[in-house]
Amino acid sequence: EKEKLYLGMDFGTSGARYALIDKQGSIHAQGKREYPPPHMSGNTKDWAGSWKTTLFSLLEDLPISLRPLIYSIAIDGTSATTIIVDSNTGDPICRPFLYNESYPDALKVVKSIAPANHTVCSGSSTLCKLVSWWNSQDSDKDSAILLHQADWLLWLLHGKFGVSDYNNALKLGYDPEADSYPKWLIAQPYSHMLPSVTAPGTSVGSLKEHVRMQFGFPEDCVVCTGTTDSIAAFLAARATETGKAVTSLGSTLAVKLLSTKRVDDARYGVYSHRLDDKWLVGGASNTGGAVLRQIFTDEQLDELSELIDPTKSSLLDYYPLPAVGERFPVADLGMTPRLHPRPTNDAEYLHGILESIARIEAKAYGLLKDLGANSVEEVFTAGGGAKNEKWRKIRERVLGLPVSRAVQTEAAYGAALLALKGAQ
Ligand code: ADP
Repeated sequence: EKEKLYLGMDFGTSGARYALIDKQGSIHAQGKREYPPPHMSGNTKDWAGSWKTTLFSLLEDLPISLRPLIYSIAIDGTSATTIIVDSNTGDPICRPFLYNESYPDALKVVKSIAPANHTVCSGSSTLCKLVSWWNSQDSDKDSAILLHQADWLLWLLHGKFGVSDYNNALKLGYDPEADSYPKWLIAQPYSHMLPSVTAPGTSVGSLKEHVRMQFGFPEDCVVCTGTTDSIAAFLAARATETGKAVTSLGSTLAVKLLSTKRVDDARYGVYSHRLDDKWLVGGASNTGGAVLRQIFTDEQLDELSELIDPTKSSLLDYYPLPAVGERFPVADLGMTPRLHPRPTNDAEYLHGILESIARIEAKAYGLLKDLGANSVEEVFTAGGGAKNEKWRKIRERVLGLPVSRAVQTEAAYGAALLALKGAQ
Protein backbone atom coordinates (compact mmCIF):
# COMPACT_ATOMS: atom_id res chain seq x y z
CA GLU A 1 0.00 0.00 0.00
CA LYS A 2 1.23 3.46 -0.85
CA GLU A 3 2.03 5.98 1.83
CA LYS A 4 -0.59 8.59 2.74
CA LEU A 5 0.28 12.25 2.16
CA TYR A 6 -0.84 15.49 3.83
CA LEU A 7 -1.16 18.85 2.12
CA GLY A 8 -0.44 22.24 3.69
CA MET A 9 -0.95 25.56 1.96
CA ASP A 10 0.31 28.94 3.11
CA PHE A 11 -1.29 32.18 1.92
CA GLY A 12 1.25 34.89 2.66
CA THR A 13 1.48 38.56 1.82
CA SER A 14 2.62 38.25 -1.80
CA GLY A 15 1.91 34.68 -2.80
CA ALA A 16 1.01 31.17 -1.73
CA ARG A 17 3.00 27.98 -1.27
CA TYR A 18 2.20 24.35 -0.75
CA ALA A 19 4.03 21.47 0.90
CA LEU A 20 3.07 17.82 0.63
CA ILE A 21 4.43 15.62 3.42
CA ASP A 22 4.18 12.07 4.69
CA LYS A 23 3.60 10.86 8.26
CA GLN A 24 7.31 11.21 9.08
CA GLY A 25 7.39 14.79 7.83
CA SER A 26 9.38 14.14 4.64
CA ILE A 27 8.48 16.46 1.80
CA HIS A 28 7.16 14.75 -1.36
CA ALA A 29 6.40 17.90 -3.34
CA GLN A 30 6.31 21.64 -2.85
CA GLY A 31 5.66 24.70 -4.95
CA LYS A 32 4.56 28.29 -5.01
CA ARG A 33 2.51 30.81 -6.95
CA GLU A 34 2.45 34.59 -6.87
CA TYR A 35 -1.03 36.08 -6.55
CA PRO A 36 -2.30 37.23 -9.94
CA PRO A 37 -3.06 40.97 -9.97
CA PRO A 38 -6.58 41.29 -8.57
CA HIS A 39 -9.39 42.20 -10.95
CA MET A 40 -11.05 45.53 -10.35
CA SER A 41 -14.69 45.45 -9.33
CA GLY A 42 -15.78 49.05 -9.32
CA ASN A 43 -12.81 50.82 -7.83
CA THR A 44 -11.82 48.08 -5.42
CA LYS A 45 -9.41 45.21 -5.95
CA ASP A 46 -10.87 41.71 -5.87
CA TRP A 47 -8.22 40.15 -3.64
CA ALA A 48 -10.51 37.29 -2.63
CA GLY A 49 -10.82 36.29 -6.29
CA SER A 50 -7.05 36.42 -6.65
CA TRP A 51 -6.56 34.13 -3.63
CA LYS A 52 -9.20 31.73 -4.92
CA THR A 53 -7.49 31.53 -8.31
CA THR A 54 -4.18 30.87 -6.55
CA LEU A 55 -5.70 28.13 -4.41
CA PHE A 56 -6.87 26.20 -7.47
CA SER A 57 -3.62 26.90 -9.33
CA LEU A 58 -1.73 25.28 -6.46
CA LEU A 59 -4.03 22.25 -6.58
CA GLU A 60 -3.32 21.98 -10.31
CA ASP A 61 0.40 22.18 -9.57
CA LEU A 62 0.22 19.08 -7.36
CA PRO A 63 1.83 16.12 -9.13
CA ILE A 64 -1.02 14.06 -10.60
CA SER A 65 0.48 10.79 -9.40
CA LEU A 66 0.50 11.98 -5.78
CA ARG A 67 -3.03 13.40 -5.64
CA PRO A 68 -4.74 10.04 -4.91
CA LEU A 69 -2.53 9.76 -1.80
CA ILE A 70 -3.58 13.08 -0.23
CA TYR A 71 -5.80 12.36 2.78
CA SER A 72 -5.92 15.73 4.47
CA ILE A 73 -5.58 19.45 3.70
CA ALA A 74 -4.98 22.51 5.93
CA ILE A 75 -4.36 26.17 5.10
CA ASP A 76 -2.81 29.10 6.95
CA GLY A 77 -3.38 32.75 6.08
CA THR A 78 -2.17 36.18 7.11
CA SER A 79 -3.39 37.12 10.55
CA ALA A 80 -6.34 39.54 10.73
CA THR A 81 -7.09 39.34 7.00
CA THR A 82 -10.86 39.42 7.12
CA ILE A 83 -13.61 38.52 4.67
CA ILE A 84 -17.32 39.23 5.15
CA VAL A 85 -19.40 36.71 3.23
CA ASP A 86 -23.05 36.04 2.57
CA SER A 87 -23.87 32.89 4.53
CA ASN A 88 -26.28 31.71 1.82
CA THR A 89 -23.73 31.70 -0.97
CA GLY A 90 -20.32 32.05 0.68
CA ASP A 91 -19.55 34.93 -1.66
CA PRO A 92 -17.73 37.95 -0.24
CA ILE A 93 -20.09 40.90 0.13
CA CYS A 94 -17.34 43.51 0.29
CA ARG A 95 -13.66 43.63 -0.51
CA PRO A 96 -11.41 41.82 2.02
CA PHE A 97 -9.88 43.79 4.87
CA LEU A 98 -6.15 43.19 4.55
CA TYR A 99 -3.94 42.16 7.48
CA ASN A 100 -2.16 45.52 7.77
CA GLU A 101 -5.09 47.87 7.19
CA SER A 102 -6.02 49.99 10.17
CA TYR A 103 -9.44 51.30 11.21
CA PRO A 104 -8.91 54.05 13.78
CA ASP A 105 -12.61 54.99 13.73
CA ALA A 106 -13.56 51.49 14.87
CA LEU A 107 -10.75 51.37 17.41
CA LYS A 108 -12.53 53.92 19.60
CA VAL A 109 -15.65 51.77 19.63
CA VAL A 110 -13.68 48.57 20.27
CA LYS A 111 -11.81 50.17 23.17
CA SER A 112 -15.14 51.09 24.73
CA ILE A 113 -16.41 47.50 24.74
CA ALA A 114 -13.25 45.39 25.27
CA PRO A 115 -11.18 45.12 28.45
CA ALA A 116 -8.18 47.48 28.57
CA ASN A 117 -5.12 46.28 26.63
CA HIS A 118 -7.01 43.38 25.02
CA THR A 119 -5.50 42.03 21.77
CA VAL A 120 -8.44 43.49 19.84
CA CYS A 121 -7.42 47.03 20.91
CA SER A 122 -5.33 47.67 17.82
CA GLY A 123 -6.63 49.46 14.73
CA SER A 124 -5.76 46.49 12.49
CA SER A 125 -7.42 43.82 14.66
CA THR A 126 -10.10 41.66 13.08
CA LEU A 127 -12.66 43.06 15.49
CA CYS A 128 -11.92 46.64 14.39
CA LYS A 129 -12.48 45.53 10.81
CA LEU A 130 -15.78 43.90 11.75
CA VAL A 131 -16.96 46.97 13.67
CA SER A 132 -15.92 49.28 10.85
CA TRP A 133 -17.91 47.21 8.35
CA TRP A 134 -20.93 46.88 10.64
CA ASN A 135 -21.13 50.62 11.26
CA SER A 136 -20.81 51.51 7.59
CA GLN A 137 -23.60 49.16 6.53
CA ASP A 138 -27.32 49.92 6.55
CA SER A 139 -28.94 46.77 5.28
CA ASP A 140 -28.33 43.12 4.46
CA LYS A 141 -26.50 42.38 7.66
CA ASP A 142 -28.59 39.41 8.81
CA SER A 143 -27.02 36.81 6.57
CA ALA A 144 -23.47 38.14 6.79
CA ILE A 145 -20.74 36.13 8.51
CA LEU A 146 -17.10 36.87 9.15
CA LEU A 147 -14.33 34.55 8.02
CA HIS A 148 -10.57 34.90 8.11
CA GLN A 149 -8.59 34.44 4.92
CA ALA A 150 -7.67 30.83 5.77
CA ASP A 151 -11.25 30.02 6.85
CA TRP A 152 -12.67 31.24 3.57
CA LEU A 153 -10.17 29.35 1.43
CA LEU A 154 -10.86 26.21 3.46
CA TRP A 155 -14.58 26.81 3.01
CA LEU A 156 -14.04 26.66 -0.74
CA LEU A 157 -12.79 23.12 -0.13
CA HIS A 158 -15.18 21.77 2.54
CA GLY A 159 -18.30 23.94 2.08
CA LYS A 160 -19.26 24.06 5.79
CA PHE A 161 -20.21 27.52 6.95
CA GLY A 162 -18.58 29.72 9.53
CA VAL A 163 -15.70 27.62 10.87
CA SER A 164 -12.45 29.06 12.18
CA ASP A 165 -9.59 28.16 14.55
CA TYR A 166 -8.57 29.77 17.83
CA ASN A 167 -5.33 31.19 16.42
CA ASN A 168 -7.02 33.13 13.65
CA ALA A 169 -9.88 34.10 15.97
CA LEU A 170 -7.63 35.61 18.67
CA LYS A 171 -7.63 39.10 17.12
CA LEU A 172 -11.38 38.84 16.74
CA GLY A 173 -11.65 38.57 20.50
CA TYR A 174 -12.04 34.82 20.98
CA ASP A 175 -10.86 33.64 24.39
CA PRO A 176 -8.74 30.54 23.78
CA GLU A 177 -8.42 29.81 27.48
CA ALA A 178 -12.16 29.71 28.19
CA ASP A 179 -12.65 28.29 24.67
CA SER A 180 -15.50 30.71 23.93
CA TYR A 181 -16.22 34.25 22.87
CA PRO A 182 -16.32 36.56 25.88
CA LYS A 183 -19.64 37.92 27.15
CA TRP A 184 -18.86 41.49 26.08
CA LEU A 185 -18.48 40.28 22.51
CA ILE A 186 -21.53 37.99 22.50
CA ALA A 187 -23.57 41.01 23.67
CA GLN A 188 -22.81 42.94 20.46
CA PRO A 189 -25.41 43.23 17.67
CA TYR A 190 -23.01 41.53 15.21
CA SER A 191 -22.42 38.44 17.36
CA HIS A 192 -24.28 36.28 14.79
CA MET A 193 -21.39 37.01 12.41
CA LEU A 194 -18.74 35.35 14.61
CA PRO A 195 -17.51 32.01 13.22
CA SER A 196 -17.49 28.89 15.36
CA VAL A 197 -14.03 28.00 16.58
CA THR A 198 -12.02 24.78 16.89
CA ALA A 199 -8.39 23.88 17.56
CA PRO A 200 -6.06 24.32 14.57
CA GLY A 201 -5.71 21.04 12.71
CA THR A 202 -9.24 19.78 13.38
CA SER A 203 -11.03 17.93 10.61
CA VAL A 204 -14.04 19.98 9.47
CA GLY A 205 -15.38 17.62 6.86
CA SER A 206 -14.75 15.87 3.57
CA LEU A 207 -13.30 17.61 0.57
CA LYS A 208 -16.18 18.77 -1.67
CA GLU A 209 -17.04 16.09 -4.18
CA HIS A 210 -16.59 18.22 -7.28
CA VAL A 211 -13.14 19.38 -6.15
CA ARG A 212 -12.18 15.82 -5.29
CA MET A 213 -13.33 14.57 -8.70
CA GLN A 214 -11.76 17.46 -10.60
CA PHE A 215 -8.30 16.93 -9.09
CA GLY A 216 -8.33 13.22 -8.32
CA PHE A 217 -8.13 13.25 -4.53
CA PRO A 218 -9.24 10.13 -2.63
CA GLU A 219 -12.81 9.78 -1.41
CA ASP A 220 -11.93 10.09 2.28
CA CYS A 221 -9.80 13.22 1.94
CA VAL A 222 -10.64 15.64 4.78
CA VAL A 223 -10.22 19.41 5.14
CA CYS A 224 -8.89 20.73 8.47
CA THR A 225 -8.83 24.07 10.25
CA GLY A 226 -5.62 26.03 9.83
CA THR A 227 -3.85 28.82 11.66
CA THR A 228 -2.08 32.12 11.00
CA ASP A 229 1.04 32.36 8.86
CA SER A 230 3.42 33.16 11.68
CA ILE A 231 2.16 30.30 13.83
CA ALA A 232 2.41 27.93 10.88
CA ALA A 233 6.04 29.05 10.47
CA PHE A 234 6.65 28.26 14.15
CA LEU A 235 5.03 24.83 13.76
CA ALA A 236 7.32 24.12 10.81
CA ALA A 237 10.36 24.17 13.11
CA ARG A 238 8.77 21.33 15.13
CA ALA A 239 9.68 22.91 18.44
CA THR A 240 7.01 20.85 20.12
CA GLU A 241 8.22 20.77 23.74
CA THR A 242 7.95 23.37 26.47
CA GLY A 243 11.08 25.57 26.60
CA LYS A 244 11.80 25.23 22.88
CA ALA A 245 11.79 28.48 20.97
CA VAL A 246 12.10 29.89 17.49
CA THR A 247 13.89 33.16 16.84
CA SER A 248 13.10 34.69 13.48
CA LEU A 249 15.94 36.86 12.18
CA GLY A 250 14.20 38.64 9.33
CA SER A 251 13.79 42.38 8.91
CA THR A 252 12.91 42.38 12.59
CA LEU A 253 13.78 40.02 15.43
CA ALA A 254 10.80 37.98 16.60
CA VAL A 255 10.87 35.34 19.30
CA LYS A 256 8.32 32.63 20.02
CA LEU A 257 8.56 30.34 23.01
CA LEU A 258 6.47 27.30 23.90
CA SER A 259 5.31 27.72 27.47
CA THR A 260 3.00 25.98 29.92
CA LYS A 261 1.84 29.38 31.15
CA ARG A 262 0.05 32.05 29.18
CA VAL A 263 1.77 35.44 29.19
CA ASP A 264 0.26 38.67 27.88
CA ASP A 265 1.68 42.13 28.44
CA ALA A 266 0.47 44.98 26.30
CA ARG A 267 3.35 47.26 27.40
CA TYR A 268 5.76 45.06 25.47
CA GLY A 269 3.37 43.84 22.81
CA VAL A 270 3.78 40.34 24.24
CA TYR A 271 0.90 37.94 23.78
CA SER A 272 0.16 34.25 23.69
CA HIS A 273 -1.50 31.97 21.22
CA ARG A 274 -2.92 28.68 22.34
CA LEU A 275 -1.41 25.49 20.92
CA ASP A 276 -3.43 22.56 22.30
CA ASP A 277 -2.38 22.26 25.97
CA LYS A 278 0.45 24.83 25.72
CA TRP A 279 0.94 28.50 24.95
CA LEU A 280 3.03 30.05 22.28
CA VAL A 281 4.37 33.26 23.81
CA GLY A 282 5.70 35.81 21.37
CA GLY A 283 7.30 39.20 21.17
CA ALA A 284 8.93 41.24 18.42
CA SER A 285 11.79 43.72 18.59
CA ASN A 286 12.43 46.38 15.97
CA THR A 287 16.06 45.36 15.80
CA GLY A 288 17.05 42.81 13.16
CA GLY A 289 18.06 42.48 9.55
CA ALA A 290 16.56 45.79 8.40
CA VAL A 291 19.32 47.63 10.30
CA LEU A 292 21.99 45.37 8.81
CA ARG A 293 20.65 46.17 5.37
CA GLN A 294 20.85 49.91 6.05
CA ILE A 295 24.60 49.51 6.60
CA PHE A 296 25.76 46.51 4.53
CA THR A 297 24.74 44.69 1.38
CA ASP A 298 23.96 40.97 1.74
CA GLU A 299 27.27 40.18 -0.03
CA GLN A 300 29.16 42.34 2.46
CA LEU A 301 27.36 40.55 5.28
CA ASP A 302 28.63 37.22 3.94
CA GLU A 303 32.19 38.42 3.37
CA LEU A 304 32.59 40.36 6.62
CA SER A 305 31.03 37.55 8.66
CA GLU A 306 33.80 35.24 7.41
CA LEU A 307 36.33 37.48 9.19
CA ILE A 308 34.60 37.30 12.58
CA ASP A 309 35.89 35.09 15.41
CA PRO A 310 32.64 34.13 17.17
CA THR A 311 34.44 32.76 20.24
CA LYS A 312 35.61 36.27 21.13
CA SER A 313 33.10 38.62 22.69
CA SER A 314 32.73 42.06 21.21
CA LEU A 315 32.87 44.93 23.66
CA LEU A 316 30.93 47.19 21.33
CA ASP A 317 27.57 47.80 22.93
CA TYR A 318 24.93 48.92 20.45
CA TYR A 319 21.16 48.99 20.23
CA PRO A 320 20.60 48.68 16.49
CA LEU A 321 17.23 50.01 15.35
CA PRO A 322 16.14 51.09 11.86
CA ALA A 323 14.31 54.10 13.30
CA VAL A 324 13.42 55.68 16.65
CA GLY A 325 11.34 53.50 18.95
CA GLU A 326 11.41 50.07 20.58
CA ARG A 327 8.67 47.97 22.12
CA PHE A 328 10.21 44.69 23.19
CA PRO A 329 12.27 43.71 25.18
CA VAL A 330 12.51 47.39 26.11
CA ALA A 331 9.30 49.41 25.98
CA ASP A 332 10.53 52.84 24.92
CA LEU A 333 8.86 54.46 21.94
CA GLY A 334 11.40 57.30 22.10
CA MET A 335 14.49 55.06 22.09
CA THR A 336 17.09 56.24 19.58
CA PRO A 337 19.21 53.74 17.64
CA ARG A 338 22.70 53.30 19.14
CA LEU A 339 25.32 52.29 16.55
CA HIS A 340 28.36 54.27 17.66
CA PRO A 341 31.29 54.37 18.04
CA ARG A 342 31.92 52.82 14.60
CA PRO A 343 35.34 51.13 14.41
CA THR A 344 37.33 51.62 11.19
CA ASN A 345 37.33 47.86 10.66
CA ASP A 346 33.98 46.81 9.15
CA ALA A 347 34.21 43.20 10.34
CA GLU A 348 34.68 44.48 13.87
CA TYR A 349 31.69 46.76 13.39
CA LEU A 350 29.50 43.90 12.13
CA HIS A 351 30.69 41.70 15.01
CA GLY A 352 29.57 44.41 17.43
CA ILE A 353 26.17 44.69 15.77
CA LEU A 354 25.55 40.93 15.59
CA GLU A 355 26.59 40.49 19.19
CA SER A 356 24.42 43.41 20.33
CA ILE A 357 21.41 41.89 18.56
CA ALA A 358 22.23 38.58 20.28
CA ARG A 359 22.18 40.38 23.64
CA ILE A 360 18.75 41.82 22.76
CA GLU A 361 17.60 38.29 21.90
CA ALA A 362 18.86 37.05 25.29
CA LYS A 363 17.08 39.93 27.00
CA ALA A 364 13.91 39.05 25.09
CA TYR A 365 13.83 35.47 26.40
CA GLY A 366 14.83 36.78 29.85
CA LEU A 367 11.86 39.13 29.85
CA LEU A 368 9.43 36.38 28.79
CA LYS A 369 10.67 34.37 31.76
CA ASP A 370 10.28 37.37 34.10
CA LEU A 371 6.72 37.76 32.83
CA GLY A 372 5.98 34.16 33.78
CA ALA A 373 6.86 31.98 30.79
CA ASN A 374 9.11 28.91 30.95
CA SER A 375 12.88 29.32 30.66
CA VAL A 376 14.10 28.89 27.13
CA GLU A 377 16.08 25.68 26.68
CA GLU A 378 16.81 25.48 22.99
CA VAL A 379 16.53 27.96 20.14
CA PHE A 380 15.80 27.22 16.49
CA THR A 381 16.38 29.97 13.97
CA ALA A 382 14.39 31.07 10.94
CA GLY A 383 14.61 34.03 8.54
CA GLY A 384 17.38 35.53 6.42
CA GLY A 385 19.81 35.77 9.35
CA ALA A 386 19.54 32.02 10.07
CA LYS A 387 22.09 31.17 7.40
CA ASN A 388 24.82 33.14 9.17
CA GLU A 389 26.90 30.46 10.93
CA LYS A 390 29.14 32.97 12.72
CA TRP A 391 26.10 34.72 14.13
CA ARG A 392 24.71 31.34 15.27
CA LYS A 393 27.91 30.73 17.24
CA ILE A 394 27.87 34.23 18.72
CA ARG A 395 24.24 33.71 19.78
CA GLU A 396 25.02 30.31 21.28
CA ARG A 397 27.71 31.93 23.44
CA VAL A 398 25.60 34.96 24.43
CA LEU A 399 22.42 32.94 25.12
CA GLY A 400 24.29 30.07 26.73
CA LEU A 401 21.99 27.64 24.93
CA PRO A 402 22.00 25.31 21.96
CA VAL A 403 21.12 27.36 18.88
CA SER A 404 20.51 25.77 15.50
CA ARG A 405 19.00 26.59 12.17
CA ALA A 406 15.45 25.22 11.89
CA VAL A 407 15.35 22.43 9.33
CA GLN A 408 11.95 23.55 8.04
CA THR A 409 10.82 27.16 8.18
CA GLU A 410 8.11 27.37 5.53
CA ALA A 411 4.65 28.10 6.88
CA ALA A 412 3.26 25.68 4.26
CA TYR A 413 5.18 22.90 6.00
CA GLY A 414 3.61 23.91 9.32
CA ALA A 415 0.18 23.83 7.68
CA ALA A 416 0.93 20.35 6.34
CA LEU A 417 1.70 19.25 9.92
CA LEU A 418 -1.77 20.53 10.89
CA ALA A 419 -3.27 18.49 8.06
CA LEU A 420 -1.42 15.46 9.41
CA LYS A 421 -2.72 16.18 12.92
CA GLY A 422 -6.28 16.53 11.65
CA ALA A 423 -6.16 13.24 9.76
CA GLN A 424 -5.47 11.24 12.92
P1 ADP B 1 11.77 39.45 5.97
O1 ADP B 1 10.98 38.33 5.38
O2 ADP B 1 11.45 39.75 7.40
O3 ADP B 1 11.85 40.68 5.15
P2 ADP B 1 14.04 37.65 5.58
O4 ADP B 1 13.70 36.51 6.48
O5 ADP B 1 13.96 37.48 4.12
O6 ADP B 1 13.29 38.97 6.04
O7 ADP B 1 15.53 38.10 5.96
C1 ADP B 1 16.10 39.22 5.36
C2 ADP B 1 17.11 39.81 6.31
O8 ADP B 1 18.20 38.91 6.45
C3 ADP B 1 17.67 41.09 5.74
O9 ADP B 1 17.20 42.19 6.50
C4 ADP B 1 19.19 40.93 5.83
O10 ADP B 1 19.79 42.03 6.50
C5 ADP B 1 19.38 39.66 6.62
N1 ADP B 1 20.51 38.90 6.11
C6 ADP B 1 20.78 38.51 4.86
N2 ADP B 1 21.96 37.88 4.78
C7 ADP B 1 22.46 37.86 6.03
C8 ADP B 1 23.67 37.36 6.62
N3 ADP B 1 24.57 36.71 5.91
N4 ADP B 1 23.83 37.55 7.94
C9 ADP B 1 22.91 38.18 8.70
N5 ADP B 1 21.77 38.66 8.19
C10 ADP B 1 21.55 38.51 6.89
